[in-house]
Amino acid sequence: MSDIASSHHGPVTRFAPSPTGLLHLGHAYAALVAAEAAERAGGVFLLRIDDIDRDRCRAEFEAAIYEDLRWLGLGWEEPVYRQSDHLNAYRSALARLEKLEVLYPCFCTRKEIRDEIGRIGDAPHGPEGHLYPGTCRRLDADERQQRIAAGQSFATRIDVAKALAAIDGQPEFRECGAGSEGQCGVMAAQPELLGDVVLARRDIGTSYHLAVTVDDAAQGVNLVTRGCDLFHATHMHVLLQALLDLPRPDYAHHPLVRDAAGRRLAKRDAALSLRELRAQGMSPAAVRALAGQRAGRLPPHS
Ligand SMILES: [Zn+2]
Repeated sequence: MSDIASSHHGPVTRFAPSPTGLLHLGHAYAALVAAEAAERAGGVFLLRIDDIDRDRCRAEFEAAIYEDLRWLGLGWEEPVYRQSDHLNAYRSALARLEKLEVLYPCFCTRKEIRDEIGRIGDAPHGPEGHLYPGTCRRLDADERQQRIAAGQSFATRIDVAKALAAIDGQPEFRECGAGSEGQCGVMAAQPELLGDVVLARRDIGTSYHLAVTVDDAAQGVNLVTRGCDLFHATHMHVLLQALLDLPRPDYAHHPLVRDAAGRRLAKRDAALSLRELRAQGMSPAAVRALAGQRAGRLPPHS
């Protein structure tokens, strides 16, 4: 745990953008929700740079993150935590899971997975689409060894059924829905909703799921605020915390900012980038108000 976080008793929250594009109104809202949740209870707001995908990250976008957030009126504890500085921690966590025998190598290409799903009449389905159909979970140890020895590249997946069997009972987490302080509900984690997700991509050796779980613990984050598009991911993160013996933060999933037509924002929506809004003469206060309005919720800091 960081010194900063361990010396505080209030909420420790974080905002963790990827420097793969300019921040837009949705990022502003997520950052403001996290900062506000910490501020109103005397806690700490942390910034984390999600830069494990080195090919897609650019230094100028990281610089723009700092500048845009400062313009918005946000401050955070230094030093900023950058994921690319913690690759060893992700490797250790993966090794620990390997020892628990809850991982397996997956040699499938995206096309092979699509084809396999097409072949199975009743392919397993989750809230976010088809689940990995489990092709490589069924390979025997000899075949795995042979393929690895032959130099076939592979991703590493979690065997959710084995993982659930390896922990003591069903893990639970507290969902506190941003904006409804004091009204937290306990939810049972259902990682099977996501299926056997990839924990280590073949190109970068880790994944969003693994890195974020390790980082939240390393930074002492005890309240994870983030968009409700990541609600199902939380079920997987809670499972990983149980497997890795990590403390479990509370979660508060907030609504997503939408454009005028009601669609979710994406990085390509340059019109709603903070840079563009600022260039049009909008004040930070007006941007905050717009973000809250588009999320269908009162603006943070209002
Ligand atoms: Zn596979």
